[in-house]
Amino acid sequence: MSKVLNETCPLCNQSNNCCNSKDKSLGICWCNEESFPREIFNQVPPDQLRKLCICKSCLEKFKIEH
Ligand SMILES: [Zn+2]
Repeated sequence: MSKVLNETCPLCNQSNNCCNSKDKSLGICWCNEESFPREIFNQVPPDQLRKLCICKSCLEKFKIEH
């Protein structure tokens, strides 16, 4: 069985730097302070939704482009 790498951003395949995916306590990650536009999740493959965190650079890129 292959281990799911949940430290990888589903959009760019780089490390998402999300503390929530690294077994750290919830509430201290940058993503808790950010607002994620609903539309950005449309770009995440459905089977990876809510499993993989989007990285900060993809979030910022998305906000600039939309
Ligand atoms: Zn990314």
